Amino acid sequence: MELKLYDTLTKDKPPFRPLDPNNVRMYVCGPTVYDFAHIGNARPVIVFDMLFRLLRHVYGADHVTYVRNITDVDDKINDRAARDYPGLPLNEAIRKVTEQTEKQFHADVDALGCLRPTVEPRATEHIAEMRAIIEKLIANGNAYVAQDHVLFSVATDPDYGKLARRSLDEMLAGARVDVAPYKREPMDFVLWKPSKPGEPSWPSPAGIAVEGRPGWHIECSAMAWKHLGERFDIHGGGIDLVFPHHENELAQSCCAFHSDRMANVWMHNGFLQVEGEKMSKSLGNFVTIRELLVNWRGRSWPGDALRFAMMQTHYRSPIDWSLAACDQAFNTLKDFFSVAGPVSGPPPAAVVEALADDLNTPKAIAELHALRKQVHEPGDAVSVALGNALAFLGLDARRFADWVAQADAGVVSNAGKIDELIAARAAARARKDFKESDRIRDELAARGIVLKDGKDAAGKPMTTWEIAR
Ligand code: AMP
Ligand code: ZN
Repeated sequence: MELKLYDTLTKDKPPFRPLDPNNVRMYVCGPTVYDFAHIGNARPVIVFDMLFRLLRHVYGADHVTYVRNITDVDDKINDRAARDYPGLPLNEAIRKVTEQTEKQFHADVDALGCLRPTVEPRATEHIAEMRAIIEKLIANGNAYVAQDHVLFSVATDPDYGKLARRSLDEMLAGARVDVAPYKREPMDFVLWKPSKPGEPSWPSPAGIAVEGRPGWHIECSAMAWKHLGERFDIHGGGIDLVFPHHENELAQSCCAFHSDRMANVWMHNGFLQVEGEKMSKSLGNFVTIRELLVNWRGRSWPGDALRFAMMQTHYRSPIDWSLAACDQAFNTLKDFFSVAGPVSGPPPAAVVEALADDLNTPKAIAELHALRKQVHEPGDAVSVALGNALAFLGLDARRFADWVAQADAGVVSNAGKIDELIAARAAARARKDFKESDRIRDELAARGIVLKDGKDAAGKPMTTWEIAR
């Protein structure tokens, strides 16, 4: 079996040859932790989890290093911290926001059947590596200091624009670049900048007297270097990251390490869209993973169904997200699990081969349907093959069954049950049983439901609820 992966840089799908088959190395840009992840954010997490599982199958579970970073220094985090914790010093508030968001992110992607990466480095724990790369870039003549900033000089890198396949003029026309007085050229980008008062700050590189903080792109170059070396096998993320984020990472790492490659393969997933538009926070047309798992307009779906719905489309194509597709995925999976035998061995070769062809999940699903048709009775050889195939794809019969049991018990997707719990909590509070009332509040919080205590028009205490966002 030959593994083939499409490379954005060469626009080719050559056979995959790891630099070291004993340690296949993959870096994927992870979340900026300030808010609940939406279902579009789940796409790269699921896509690269599929690839992680495939690589582990081919090279052995102990021979793959998957690094997915956590971006914990960012303006959006600072804004959220100031908004949610106005009474706290900013740095403390930031820690609260990032810790909480990271926990929510893990709970959400665990529910989607994604394995934890081998390493999840936090940007703020790699400032020393960022400074070291910046110093190298200055020493190599690829970066300069101006007004307490350090900037990358794109004119010094003849390969700049190779990944995005755009000329400097085209990039300039297409990007919203800040034309700042400290830049030599408008396309030059920030490696380091001074911090505003109260913002997180670290001693600056290059002898700059005031403290500062890193630019976004340098964070990934530093974390990839620390955990995977100067050059590694696969770099992944959503298609929107090709430019400028990955173009800039590539420029920084190649110029710092005098290398012509940062990663041998660059992989990018297409967008998840709603009615033809990218799902995004800024457009406001987003639904969080948590809402779909708990209560989206009175309905919800198990994580395995959401994962399965996502797998119906090849990762490089856009997905049009619909509730009908979630329902269909749920029904199909329910049927598969109802006949699948216990997981007891490696997946069928046809399923592995489908994935080995640039992660062709629609083809893998077609193989599942073919197996399903051949099952005569639960427990027969084909049903066992089906069970093994589902497990290999990260679809878990037990987790699915647990969700169904919870749904039957009326806890998820059941506003009536939530109202019942709120009434029980009000009764507990009335009899001053605060232990019980706190327990109920925590139980709901664990399911992503936030209670708001207030008063009704007549001044009587009243509790409303909403899905945490
Ligand atoms: P962000 O929170 O915007 O930094 O995005 C985190 C990851 O999710 C990146 O890999 C993005 O490319 C990816 N992403 C964001 N929105 C979408 C979307 N609508 N569809 C697919 N991937 C997305
Ligand atoms: Zn990145």
